[in-house]
Amino acid sequence: MKIVLIGIQGAGKSTQGNLLSEKLKIPYLSTGHIFRELAKEKTKIGRYIKEVMNAGYLIPDKKTVAIVDEYLKRQEYKNGYIIDGFPRTIAQAEFFKDGADKVIYLKVSDGEALKRLSFRNGDNGVREDETPSAIAKRIELFHKLTKPVFDYYRKKGILIEIDGERAIEEIHEDILTKLGK
Ligand code: AMP
Repeated sequence: MKIVLIGIQGAGKSTQGNLLSEKLKIPYLSTGHIFRELAKEKTKIGRYIKEVMNAGYLIPDKKTVAIVDEYLKRQEYKNGYIIDGFPRTIAQAEFFKDGADKVIYLKVSDGEALKRLSFRNGDNGVREDETPSAIAKRIELFHKLTKPVFDYYRKKGILIEIDGERAIEEIHEDILTKLGK
């Protein structure tokens, strides 16, 4: 099964993605994680990605789809995957035509996401790409560029909307039920 997990930063995508991966025995990958790893490289592309991420912008579609395409060609994803954070734009969704059987939209309000991100930072030290201005830009771009992706999948009849403002276990159970698992 090919599952897409999208939501605003702080919605709990990686928490739910990992739980789901364990339960369904489907490998999990996250474009945010891939980009954070690339951003550590002391190369031209590494520095560029770091700069874009830290400012709260999206990596350009062309680069993003090339990277995702390369990853998903790997043997481990042949029988399915749970991909977190992709597609985030209509251009990415159009590229990803047959890439999703189900799309889970983990819904939380901007206010709740902001509250969780400040808690996350307080807890584990500030992540470089989670400064207040980067978070604000990311929320703006989420509404502008990613919201249309939900309409795209809603029209295809594969969008599952999940209330993400509940206990982790409750959300997990709800996702499983709506996936028919
Ligand atoms: P995330 O951990 O999913 O919030 O992603 C962290 C950052 O990685 C984002 O703010 C973007 O800069 C970049 N990124 C992750 N996924 C994508 C994507 N699908 N398209 C463009 N940029 C992305």
